[in-house]
Amino acid sequence: MPAEQDDFETIRKYVAENEGADALVVSKATGVDINCVNRMIENGNIATLSADLDASSFTCGQCGAPAISSTKRLCQDCLGKLNLKMMATRKDMEVEQQNNRLKGSSVHEVLNSKRNR
Ligand SMILES: [Zn+2]
Repeated sequence: MPAEQDDFETIRKYVAENEGADALVVSKATGVDINCVNRMIENGNIATLSADLDASSFTCGQCGAPAISSTKRLCQDCLGKLNLKMMATRKDMEVEQQNNRLKGSSVHEVLNSKRNR
């Protein structure tokens, strides 16, 4: 599609000159349909656009490094650490539950033994 190729060139040039511009701004400035701009970003044809968005707009809430996505707000390192932490917490909770269950049964046994006396 030659028309699409022209649009792509127009967008690529605009993005190169306007770092961090989002899809809506690019669409308005270049006159290219917003759906077309979004599709190009999704296809990875405009790598700099999405890369700029991620790197400049969103940083890791833990260490300030560029976030891996706008929704997670965490870098790869901290995401890995968080996952480990969550797994450890879950393990702690399981151990605690088991301890409580043991305590519960021991109390129950104590009551039973008193009743039998
Ligand atoms: Zn981080």
